[in-house]
Amino acid sequence: MSRIHALSLEYGFRIIEDASHAIGAKYAGAPVGSGRYSDISVFSFHPVKIITSAEGGMAMTNQPALAKRMQVLRNHGITRDPELMTREPIGDWEYQQISLGANYRMSDIHASLGLSQLHRVDDFVAQRRRLQARYDSLLADLPVITPYQSKECDSTLHLYPIQLQLEHISLTQAEVFARMREQELGVNIHYIPVHTQPYYQALGFKHGDFPNAERYYERALSLPLFHGMTDKEQDRVVDILSRITRTA
Ligand SMILES: *Cc1c(COP(=O)(O)O)cnc(C)c1O
Repeated sequence: MSRIHALSLEYGFRIIEDASHAIGAKYAGAPVGSGRYSDISVFSFHPVKIITSAEGGMAMTNQPALAKRMQVLRNHGITRDPELMTREPIGDWEYQQISLGANYRMSDIHASLGLSQLHRVDDFVAQRRRLQARYDSLLADLPVITPYQSKECDSTLHLYPIQLQLEHISLTQAEVFARMREQELGVNIHYIPVHTQPYYQALGFKHGDFPNAERYYERALSLPLFHGMTDKEQDRVVDILSRITRTA
């Protein structure tokens, strides 16, 4: 982020940071969302994320003008703030539509669920990081590469994506995935590179355009990781993965 930020100063572009996975994370000693390296940070509170408000999310900024602009945009482009109005209001009842907007409001019910979860972020992240350390050591002798952790980042471990060392495994990625799922383990594969999606293919992107992303995807497997996961559940994941990858 610091390098992207440096480029934004050099070339004069703005940074909207997709931090959907990263509530509770730190980068270079500061919480993600602190705005040190971005204009706006966006978090998702979809049910699969670190905390949830059932649906919805949050956009954070340190810039008052951007905050006001987002508040207007989420409310049909309408404001009741006299400072934002483009002409003198004729009475206290007056609202003014100053731009086009849509309804991006979170309902109060969703917000209260989100607020109660917000108090638990640090606890959720601490549990994930403990499980990460356990996975890292339990998987050390398996033909997999555990997720890289940069020294300057404290990840939330929203996902625990390993890379299968397929040259040491007799099965394909799809077979490993299927055998794990047969055991009712909620493995997944994150993510399908966007340039291979139909929408981007129609824009002219082709397979092979981003070989590193494709290579990563072809070896990826996300293991189950959630706060509240027990050591026993985690041991079972490792046991089964170990058996499957050993059938060489
Ligand atoms: C979940 C997610 C989104 C979408 O979040 P919504 O709350 O569904 O809008 C976008 N980007 C990333 C990286 C995500 O993980």
